[in-house]
Amino acid sequence: MKTKSRFRPEARWRLADITTPLDYVSVKEMTRAFARRVAVEPNCKKRWEGILGKIDWKRVAARYKQGLLAPTDYGTHYKCVAHRGFCTRSHKPTESGNKMCRLCGCAEETVEHFGECIGLAATYKSMRLLDRKGDWKQPALNLLGVGGGGGGEVEALERGVSDVHMFIWKEMIGEITRVDTTGKRYITANVLRRAKARCLTRMQAFEQGVENYTLQKISKGENPQRGYETYQKQVKGIMSLDEEDGSISVDKHMQRWLDSIEDSKDQEVRIVAAPEQSHANKKARSDEYTPMFQPSRWPALSAYFVPQKTNTN
Ligand SMILES: [Zn+2]
Repeated sequence: MKTKSRFRPEARWRLADITTPLDYVSVKEMTRAFARRVAVEPNCKKRWEGILGKIDWKRVAARYKQGLLAPTDYGTHYKCVAHRGFCTRSHKPTESGNKMCRLCGCAEETVEHFGECIGLAATYKSMRLLDRKGDWKQPALNLLGVGGGGGGEVEALERGVSDVHMFIWKEMIGEITRVDTTGKRYITANVLRRAKARCLTRMQAFEQGVENYTLQKISKGENPQRGYETYQKQVKGIMSLDEEDGSISVDKHMQRWLDSIEDSKDQEVRIVAAPEQSHANKKARSDEYTPMFQPSRWPALSAYFVPQKTNTN
């Protein structure tokens, strides 16, 4: 009884900056409140804003999401570019003390220089072919995928488009690194070919995911259509899901980007014409009985993978 008179959990009592009434505070909220007190803004944020101007960090953070991308696809960019962890020559000059860019030799090599390095112009032009954001020389857009003017004022990259940037970046970082570690030249075509091959693999996996989901729902007697929206969000800007049966088609600009890159022979992958969308056929057959799911009705991305005969002489 005494306790009650001393400590009354009235509505006005609050713990730290948690807005929930005292008797409803969860462990999760307490942990977060504690973390807020000790958390420090990472230095890289301040550094980037000093160089590129105001940055919409929420947009940047939203790019590192699983879906079409696996963590291995965005991890390198996260560490090397967003967190400025790239081992550049300004951190580690060559044995002769050279700090100039390994690609162009015209400026001191820093992470931000890579955003406007002439040696990477062809790679960025390929990105522009897909994102249609104009000039190749837009450091903020190239490096962090945010507005070209150095801020967040330009429309954000669609999620699928941002994912393709990531596929390219992963290969760029590897190729740039190899210039100093193995003495090889930076070759844009190699970067794009590898990025495209990885992209196609992930697109296939994505399609398989949607297929599995559809089958699962149908087998339970449920309607799969409601879930398609979630899948569609993941590939916005590069692929479209049919609202009815979840079949996937590649968007026009994505197709153009894929077509612009020649495949490497060692991948044994080559692009063929986009599978025809059979909307007209679907309508024509609508009076016939067709089960909800028919593997043949899917314009499978596997159509893109045509094994080439290799000469083994
Ligand atoms: Zn350079």
